[in-house]
Amino acid sequence: MNPANKRKLDVIVVGTGLAGASAAASLGELGFNVKVFCYQDSPRRAHSIAAQGGINAAKNYPNDGDSVYRLFYDTIKGGDYRAREANVYRLAEVSGNIIDQCVAQGVPFAREYGGLLDNRSFGGAQVSRTFYARGQTGQQLLLGAYSALSRQIEKGTVKMYNRTEMLDVVLVDGKARGIITRNLVTGAIERHFGHAVVLATGGYGNVFFLSTNAMGSNGSAAMQAYRRGAYFANPCFAQIHPTCIPVHGDYQSKLTLMSESLRNDGRIWVPKDKTVSEKLRKGLMKPTDVKEEDRDYYLERRYPAFGNLVPRDVASRAAKERCDAGYGVGATGLAVYLDFSTAIQRLGKHVIEERYGNLFQMYEKIVDENPYETPMMIYPAIHYTMGGIWVDYELMTTIPGLYAIGEANFSDHGANRLGASALMQGLADGYFILPYTIQNYLAGEIRTPRMSTDAAEFVKTEAEVKERIKKIINIKGKHSVDSFHKRLGHIMWEYVGMGRTRESLTKAIELIVALRAEYWKEVYVPGTNDEFNPELEKALRVADFLELGEMMARDALNREESCGGHFREEYQTEDGEALRNDDKFMYASAWEYKGDAAPEMHKEPLNYEFIEVKQRNYK
Ligand SMILES: Cc1cc2nc3c(=O)[nH]c(=O)nc-3n(C[C@H](O)[C@H](O)[C@H](O)COP(=O)(O)OP(=O)(O)OC[C@H]3O[C@@H](n4cnc5c(N)ncnc54)[C@H](O)[C@@H]3O)c2cc1C
Repeated sequence: MNPANKRKLDVIVVGTGLAGASAAASLGELGFNVKVFCYQDSPRRAHSIAAQGGINAAKNYPNDGDSVYRLFYDTIKGGDYRAREANVYRLAEVSGNIIDQCVAQGVPFAREYGGLLDNRSFGGAQVSRTFYARGQTGQQLLLGAYSALSRQIEKGTVKMYNRTEMLDVVLVDGKARGIITRNLVTGAIERHFGHAVVLATGGYGNVFFLSTNAMGSNGSAAMQAYRRGAYFANPCFAQIHPTCIPVHGDYQSKLTLMSESLRNDGRIWVPKDKTVSEKLRKGLMKPTDVKEEDRDYYLERRYPAFGNLVPRDVASRAAKERCDAGYGVGATGLAVYLDFSTAIQRLGKHVIEERYGNLFQMYEKIVDENPYETPMMIYPAIHYTMGGIWVDYELMTTIPGLYAIGEANFSDHGANRLGASALMQGLADGYFILPYTIQNYLAGEIRTPRMSTDAAEFVKTEAEVKERIKKIINIKGKHSVDSFHKRLGHIMWEYVGMGRTRESLTKAIELIVALRAEYWKEVYVPGTNDEFNPELEKALRVADFLELGEMMARDALNREESCGGHFREEYQTEDGEALRNDDKFMYASAWEYKGDAAPEMHKEPLNYEFIEVKQRNYK
């Protein structure tokens, strides 16, 4: 587009995580007028800051045979052949540019002694292609994106709205033309116009209540778009991460991830003998008392080719299988060991400290055990959502002019995301894909003048938002928002969690429908709309989780196969691996909102032209 025309166009970006910050900065640099929103007090507090382990790119610096094709292949295979081929290829193609961009911004990636960028390995790959900054990769990348964003804010191309939450999308003649927001400090409801709207609002893992996500992460923006006509794709594809600190009590509200990078050097095991596990559970023995020959390194045993670096879904199920069979450790029996003693002997403590120092420190602070001396205890937990708003190759949703990028969309990871691929996808979308694809749409908008937000559509949508807020505040029931969220989380983990069955999913739908009805009668939201009111923020988000949870269960019920993170117990191989049904389910499911009726599912067939579809094998 001609630069003079870009100046005439306004783009709204909701979200300042890696996807949103990079998109807003790039669109500003290109000359568009950008308005960017986040609910935190600073863009730098977006959930992306939590990312630990690293970011993938097909640079082949270690000369171990990596290539664009290989990254593309690993990602499709890792996602169990449920991602769109063209999108994933494009992702692999731009992966190298991301590293160059970030290095140019000054992101302090780890370097080898000689000064070259260092790489490590992540699950689902036999090459080292993960760039990292200790265990703080997300933070460093976000500081890079934030500095690019700040530069545009200073230049006046980007206007930043902190502490502002989008509560609805405004459609004019079927096209996205703006959003309605709430100022989280004053409660003021405001209208904003844009020629196009980009959602970079992250994932919905917190539907499970306990997850590794930031406490504020939610699925509301996606649900608002869904209720306005954007399809929601593969909602049931949620990722369970194998290496999290196990749940330790009923009053816990957050789970902590121990990065997948730890599986580079840590070895996962449980005792070979159940009676030893029992002694460990009762505290009658210490893990360091268990002799080498009495340890079952079950991932190395079952998957000799990939060992401890099998993909997350495979490692999570294997941990659950051992714990369910009675070999689990820790007070609850729901934990396995991640042991660094071999690596410390081989490399020395200082090397392990350099690689993972902050993670070890975090573990010690939470568990009060020194992981250099005794193995860590880990267990799978909800971590990432591969499902999200359906987008086409241009990253546009089914609503013209409404885009979705980063974790908020469903695009690249199929049924299972490989570690270090979310940061890659978020930054690919934000720096290199959306800023160009969106112009194909905006080129048709250069004659559309800026609209007044007094237009009837804005007024009507705002009135609907206010009505929803009024309704929820006026319930004045007896139970807190969190109590409902926790109950929803229990239902999700129990019946829509790591192992799903027709029976469990049917039950989940029943329970969620009942819980939702109770919520709208019994929830208590203190205070008013016209003030700082975090309970109100949560109440609106949990209302959306209650709809989203049901959609996830419906999607999981429909998908009568196991693939990636979606494990239907009825569909497994003899040795307990996921069993796909390509004849019937090689499609992305895209759900359309139908008001009070059940949503309607559309199928996007997946055609593999460049990759041979096989049973996944990491043996
Ligand atoms: C503990 C942890 C470690 C991880 N480590 C890695 C790793 O090492 N490598 C990797 O590749 N991936 C990792 N991931 C995954 C990765 O961090 C995320 O998928 C990714 O950062 C998501 O980025 P995003 O920009 O899409 O969304 P987010 O970073 O979640 O940002 C969402 C933004 O949207 C805004 N927002 C949301 N809703 C609204 C609304 N209604 N109104 C206004 N603003 C809104 C928020 O304020 C925020 O700015 C990790 C995840 C976790 C939980």
